[in-house]
Amino acid sequence: MGIVVKKFGGTSVESIDKIAKIAEHLAFEKEKGDDIVVVVSAMGKTTDSLFKLAYEITKTPNQREMDMLLTAGERITMALLSLSLQKLNIQSISFTGSQSGIVTDNTHGNAKILTVNAFRISEELQKGRIVIVAGFQGVSLEKEITTLGRGGSDTTAVALASFLQADRCEIFTDVDGVYNADPNIISEAKKIDELSFEEMLYLSCTGAKVLHSRAVEFAYKYKMPIEVKSLLSTHCSGLSHKSLDTSEEKLSATRLAPTKGTTIKGENNMENVEKTMIKAISQKENIRIFDVIISNKDIPIFNTEIFDIDVYTSVSEPFWINKARVFIEEKYNEKFIEELSTNNLTFNLENDEFTVINLLGYRINRDITFLSKMYSFIKNNCEKPISIKNQGIGVQLIIEQTEAKKVIEYLNREYL
Ligand code: ADP
Ligand code: ASP
Ligand code: MG
Repeated sequence: MGIVVKKFGGTSVESIDKIAKIAEHLAFEKEKGDDIVVVVSAMGKTTDSLFKLAYEITKTPNQREMDMLLTAGERITMALLSLSLQKLNIQSISFTGSQSGIVTDNTHGNAKILTVNAFRISEELQKGRIVIVAGFQGVSLEKEITTLGRGGSDTTAVALASFLQADRCEIFTDVDGVYNADPNIISEAKKIDELSFEEMLYLSCTGAKVLHSRAVEFAYKYKMPIEVKSLLSTHCSGLSHKSLDTSEEKLSATRLAPTKGTTIKGENNMENVEKTMIKAISQKENIRIFDVIISNKDIPIFNTEIFDIDVYTSVSEPFWINKARVFIEEKYNEKFIEELSTNNLTFNLENDEFTVINLLGYRINRDITFLSKMYSFIKNNCEKPISIKNQGIGVQLIIEQTEAKKVIEYLNREYL
């Protein structure tokens, strides 16, 4: 029997009731004989609430103290889940990121994992315990507590799975798989059965927050298959755990069997490689665009989280000048403007808010009929200028926010 890593996101652990249901699921899974490591996020919107508390004190909080604060969210969940398992007579132990051996660099707020010394986890698994790990956190070589960036519990899960050489990593979330567009925005979106690592990486890097992009990088590097699914609905046969005595308890557990989700693994399951097709669309909203004049200066190492950046030379005879087109989420606007002025950089900020839409697909960036048809729809239906850019396995559209919906609906109607 092997090791399985299961990760439960914020909505999946938002109440004691939901945590109890996860414990029932784990009790059932434990009977199958695999060793189980569980990674949990903070309950519901806890991380956002902790952020708000800090910002009530200061707009420029110390990053070290922020990490001390934010890591508390995941610690609450890990202890509550462990208590819920123990109530079902299942042996369990909870660990912080540091106790789990997740060693990171010292970049508070966005630390990168250097290595995982998971020997304590292995020891506890050998004792037959379910090990619960607080996601999104680690410890630096200087013994400081760090966080891995928003959405980082996915990365904890896949990193642990990789270092423990687990058989698989299951990511449980509030949707039952990866869809060909965000199902909370496009109601007709369809679930995808399989994606390659490269395809998922493209989607995660361009806005599909269903998986943290760094989690996909780990999976890609270590060839760790991921399954994205949810714990809702469908029947679960063969339920027999002794702690689930009454038929009512059995019924509640049957309601919680996992759905068949989306598998992300190495192979690219293309059926018709020569066909022009869009496999999925990702989108990032509330994007502001800054044209920053760089001239002959260096591009500063910005602290603000940058969604995308293009560097280009703008020619206006007889001069040429180097510029950077920087894409930032609206919420980081003020911080970025401050950084630009600290670095004495002049810039122009576009008035509008934009949506960046990325089309993951095959042949679309070489098929002029496709590009021409899409362009013609946009030209005839949108008033504001747009940008279309070819990428390796996709095409990127930058559209003024209020016009994005009709373009996404068109793409969905025509190609998905
Ligand atoms: P968790 O708290 O479990 O980590 P997240 O909120 O981070 O969950 O990710 C799940 C959300 O990702 C979904 O609710 C959905 O709105 C969003 N999402 C974006 N793109 C996609 C996609 N292509 N398929 C599925 N979900 C997507
Ligand atoms: N709790 C953290 C966040 O909200 C990490 C995570 O949920 O993955 O970003
Ligand atoms: Mg997430």
